[in-house]
Amino acid sequence: MASAKPLGMGGSYRDGPAVLMFAIALPLLWWTSESGRTTFAPELFVFFHSAVEMAAVVISMMIFLTGYRAVLSARRSAVVLLGVAFLGVGLLDFLHILSYRGMPDALSFNDPQKSMFFWIAARLLGASALLAYALLPSAGMVGPIQKRLGLTLMLGLVGAIACVGLLQPHRISPLFVDGRGLTTLKIGLEWFVAALNAATVVALLWRRTALADELVRDLVFACALLAISAIFFTELGVIDTDSANAIGHVYKVVAYLYLFNATCGEALRRPVQRLAVQALRESTILSAAPDAVLWVDQQGIILMANAAVVPVTGFSPDDLIGSNISMLMPEHLRGRHENAFQSYFLMPRVRAMGLFDLKLMRRNGTLVPVDISLGHYRDGESEYAIAYIRDLTERMAYEESLRHQATHDELTGLPNRWLFHFQLEQAIARAARSGQSVVVMFLDLDHFKAVNDSLGHPAGDELLAQVGVRIRQVLRETDVLARLGGDEFALCLSDLTDPQEALHVATNILARFHSAFRLAGQDVYSGVSLGVAFYPGDAADCDTLLRYADMAMYQAKRAGRGTYACYSTEMDAQAHQEMLIHTRLQDAMKSDTLELHYQPQVNVKTGATVGVEALLRWHDEVLGQVAPECFIAVAEATGLILPLSAWVLTTACAQIAEWARAGTPMRVSVNFSAQQFRLGDLAAQVQAALARANAQPHLLCVEITESVAMDHPALASTQLSHLRALGCSISLDDFGTGHSSLAYLKQLPITELKIDRSFMVGIPHDTHDIAIARAIITLAHSLGMTLVAEGVETSEQLSFLKEHGCQHYQGWLFAPAMPAAALAAGVAWGHTEAQPASLLSEVRF
Ligand code: C2E
Ligand code: MG
Ligand code: MG
Repeated sequence: MASAKPLGMGGSYRDGPAVLMFAIALPLLWWTSESGRTTFAPELFVFFHSAVEMAAVVISMMIFLTGYRAVLSARRSAVVLLGVAFLGVGLLDFLHILSYRGMPDALSFNDPQKSMFFWIAARLLGASALLAYALLPSAGMVGPIQKRLGLTLMLGLVGAIACVGLLQPHRISPLFVDGRGLTTLKIGLEWFVAALNAATVVALLWRRTALADELVRDLVFACALLAISAIFFTELGVIDTDSANAIGHVYKVVAYLYLFNATCGEALRRPVQRLAVQALRESTILSAAPDAVLWVDQQGIILMANAAVVPVTGFSPDDLIGSNISMLMPEHLRGRHENAFQSYFLMPRVRAMGLFDLKLMRRNGTLVPVDISLGHYRDGESEYAIAYIRDLTERMAYEESLRHQATHDELTGLPNRWLFHFQLEQAIARAARSGQSVVVMFLDLDHFKAVNDSLGHPAGDELLAQVGVRIRQVLRETDVLARLGGDEFALCLSDLTDPQEALHVATNILARFHSAFRLAGQDVYSGVSLGVAFYPGDAADCDTLLRYADMAMYQAKRAGRGTYACYSTEMDAQAHQEMLIHTRLQDAMKSDTLELHYQPQVNVKTGATVGVEALLRWHDEVLGQVAPECFIAVAEATGLILPLSAWVLTTACAQIAEWARAGTPMRVSVNFSAQQFRLGDLAAQVQAALARANAQPHLLCVEITESVAMDHPALASTQLSHLRALGCSISLDDFGTGHSSLAYLKQLPITELKIDRSFMVGIPHDTHDIAIARAIITLAHSLGMTLVAEGVETSEQLSFLKEHGCQHYQGWLFAPAMPAAALAAGVAWGHTEAQPASLLSEVRF
């Protein structure tokens, strides 16, 4: 027999009656079978029997109803089967009541044979159903048709049994014989029922893991009590209204109560508990969801909203539930949304996030960008949409900042090169349609490097930012100003009816640079050079326009900076020519076809050669004879100047050494470029070149132009002092063409001044040239520097120089630059008063 904790489970208040009944079962059996058998008055027993059996019938019907209607049970087919079987059990028990002796005759004479027939049929049916329930697999669903079929079969079976039992009860083998009591058949059948119930107990215990513990306990109790009940019915005496009969009925009813509890648990309580847990989980998931979730019916009424609706919409779930979803739509979109909402239900499908960007209206009337995905749910006839709403405010702000970063310059906040190209292309496309002009300007700050070098990079950055602001101030809203990088800006003026307007803009920009910028606590003046190119006049595409504007900007730089230049086709031709020169010059350097010529420098009084100036000569197969002024400018612009200058220095040093070895030492002046001068270790390089050639430093004169020396006075001073310390002499070339500060001039360790040849041209007629030449000669005298006049072509010029005390000159009057060999052949080194005319005639150039 099952104990209070037969399955190792905790007991409950429900276990009490069963445990009690198990405990007293044996004594009661002994009592009824031996001495204690009591019989009851038939009327009393009929009343008791009817009451107890009616209770059993009611419970059977309840088992039927709960089992048959079970919708959520995991073991639905087994539960339905049990329910249907207990309909049969209940009906048979009802027939058993009606046919009980003492009840009015039902169709035929009521006697124990008739009522016991129904009784034993009900017991067999019930016990078999319980065993089947215990053994049926958990899976397996049952549809409405199967249910109805099962019901019909059961009613048919009961009908058949009822026919036999009511109409022909005595055609069945006797179960009870008046005066003799139970037949062996009846006793055997009762034992069989008890055995079936016991087998069910075993099956239940065996399958207890597959079935719920609590359920199994109730079923085990029920089956065990039914088994005991059946045993009591084997004990019926000759008079069947005895204590065995009564106790058996009590056990049966108590067993039914446990059975009802079990079926109720399986069909109702456990599924409902499961649903409750599931609902709890779902509500937790919903309330923890980061996205707002709305459950909306087909009319647009919000049925459910989670907590995340608050931050998205500003409404609480309570505000929204019961309201129409359109309250979240901006007024002007409500009609459209209504149509879209209805058409969604015509063809409902799951719609993922990321397909539509919408704007919802918040409680305070502001719009919030959202992404909405939709799910669809149908419950019978009703359809619902579930909207998952994600607030895109932060993501959009992040995307916008990424977009801004990718398209704008961080320092100035202006559009970057990419965005400028994009906007210029659009402006060109617009202008192509409208027939208007687009102007592209390329702006480059003048001497920006000097600001960086002298005030530091933060000040340079600050200057760029301030420049951006100043230029922007003179522009229209529609004009595009971009920073292309470094100190380069670009401007796109579109929708211009008169292209000349652009020139006013250029002038206004230049004027903005007249006032100082405040950088690192100082007033700093900066200039800008502008190049202008026009669409469609100059070019039709973005890249070419920008390139032409860049070219024009270089022209503005050449023209003295702080100005603007408009692109012209000559510039393009010039650019092409320069490119060609660059390429050919590179080849010339590789193939060593450059030459160094030497122009004598002569003592004005004696005519003796005091030195020579080394000058580059280049004859190219394609370009012919290329003037140094031409290719040196290209070399300076392209960086070729450094290797070129290194070659010149090496060659000149070798020549110095060669002449010295030949016993005719000659001072050689070498032109140094601005870029060479910026090299930190210039003196070391010169020293190395002299050492390699084994040349004496005092025979090398370093020529730098006035502009190089004056643009970087501090650098010049250091470099020149080192070169001076090396033993080289220093000559200031092209003097008078730049902007010498006499204060600086005084400080620099310069040994020689060269009057630019442009001042020689007007001598002896031009009073200005005469005045300037005289002033320079006087200045050189007073500073204790030697003076060399360049470009002396006539004897009048020479006489002038002689008259005013200029020491040396160079010029075609004496000799042009010529190869070293030709020079050696024609010049009496510094000793004789060479006759200029005779030398010229001797030298071919
Ligand atoms: P520069 O240093 O002022 O050179 C003097 C220029 O005057 C030379 O022009 C020379 O040929 C020219 N010249 C001399 N006498 C007369 C004359 O009587 N009449 C006229 N009209 N011109 C005369 P060149 O050789 O064409 O050189 C031009 C410039 O190219 C040079 O001016 C110098 O600045 C630069 N240059 C030449 N060779 C080199 C070089 O090796 N390195 C560097 N950095 N620059 C060089
Ligand atoms: Mg020179
Ligand atoms: Mg010169």
